[in-house]
Amino acid sequence: MKLILLGAPGAGKGTVAKLLTEVDGSVQISTGDILRGAVAAGTELGKKAQGFMDAGDLVPDDLIMGIMGDRLQEDDCAKGFLLDGFPRTIPQAEALKVLLTDLGIELDMAVNLDVARDVILDRLSTRRTCSNSDCQAIYNVKSNPTKEEGICDKCGSPVVQRADETEEAITHRLETYNEKTAPLIGFYEKEGLIVNVNATSSDAVVAAITEKL
Ligand code: AMP
Repeated sequence: MKLILLGAPGAGKGTVAKLLTEVDGSVQISTGDILRGAVAAGTELGKKAQGFMDAGDLVPDDLIMGIMGDRLQEDDCAKGFLLDGFPRTIPQAEALKVLLTDLGIELDMAVNLDVARDVILDRLSTRRTCSNSDCQAIYNVKSNPTKEEGICDKCGSPVVQRADETEEAITHRLETYNEKTAPLIGFYEKEGLIVNVNATSSDAVVAAITEKL
């Protein structure tokens, strides 16, 4: 499947993407994970991106398109891909359209995960992420805690609160989402690709998506 997952930070795009990879072997492509990996590895990309990320601002479109132009041409994308956190702006969506046309790839749909703001605020402030950039497993202190406090079940690395998941950064990320990313719903509606899903449970979202495919 070739999908875009749209939705505010904390809507569950990453969780749904991981579940969908198990359906048919499509790969999850998370620009946030790629960027956090680059920051942890101290690459040029990471150095350029870190300040924007920590403040809860978007990384400039040209950096993101550089990453995605390469990533979508890798062999593992042939089976399908789940775009998680990309595109985030209208210019990214327009650039993606050109890129996909050039590569001869057609999208199945753009899924909009619709979640109430109070649920999102609660989820993000209680979310914890594995600090190992090769793992980045996600936990929640309330609904999905680690077996041993502060230690990743999968790889044993410390589990931390992301720098952009403080209350101040979360508020700013949600404002950025409303201003820059929410307009993509209209963009993909015009393209005839939008599917709105009420994202109460990730399993229900996955069922709704697989039914539509
Ligand atoms: P995420 O894990 O998707 O919430 O992304 C974490 C941070 O990475 C965002 O707050 C942005 O700073 C940056 N980021 C991720 N994806 C994008 C994108 N497509 N465009 C711009 N910035 C991005």
